[in-house]
Amino acid sequence: MIIWGSKGITGTTDRGTFNCPVCVSQQRFEQKRVRRFFTLYFIPIFPTSTLGEYVECAHCQGTFDTAIRSYDPSQQMLQAEALFMTAVKSIMIHICIADGDVDPDEVMQIQAIYEQLTNTQISDTDLIEEIQATQESSTSLFELLDHLVGQLNDHAKETAVTAAYMIAAADGHVDDSEIELIQQIGQRLGMTPAHLNGVIASVQQPAPPELP
Ligand SMILES: [Zn+2]
Repeated sequence: MIIWGSKGITGTTDRGTFNCPVCVSQQRFEQKRVRRFFTLYFIPIFPTSTLGEYVECAHCQGTFDTAIRSYDPSQQMLQAEALFMTAVKSIMIHICIADGDVDPDEVMQIQAIYEQLTNTQISDTDLIEEIQATQESSTSLFELLDHLVGQLNDHAKETAVTAAYMIAAADGHVDDSEIELIQQIGQRLGMTPAHLNGVIASVQQPAPPELP
């Protein structure tokens, strides 16, 4: 009687280092391929199919999709940071242009709040260019928020709403239509009313920022 069957066999196809998301550090990895072999008398004779390929961390033994090899946390952080700053800046610009032209005072207020919230400076020229681009663009604030919502974390959303409130308050008072707009921004960013009210309350607590 001939005894035949099949068996999954794991082989190493590549080795190297990668950024392990579990170890949160660079680790050695082995890339493994699992193949089904035709066996005769329990001896694997030839592969019949590839069942899958994965990357295994040598340190934590965690297994990941092979795409993990190109994962670069510092690059991802830079992208998240850039989106966060875009959101903060764009929200303030949209609020300022909502009631007409942006005067030089408002430009200075956006600069001051932007610097306070992101620890980054933005030059007059860059900001004025962005304001003009926003005025000419057909993308509404809500369309922009819809685009950003999945990519901002809670902290970024809170800061974006804080920026909206601060720029609305920069002229000395926040009227009902401005509150309504800020609430719409929060909703659009997927924040619950309680979360949003908490953020607004915490901006209202301290004295308004000293603006030049
Ligand atoms: Zn690991």
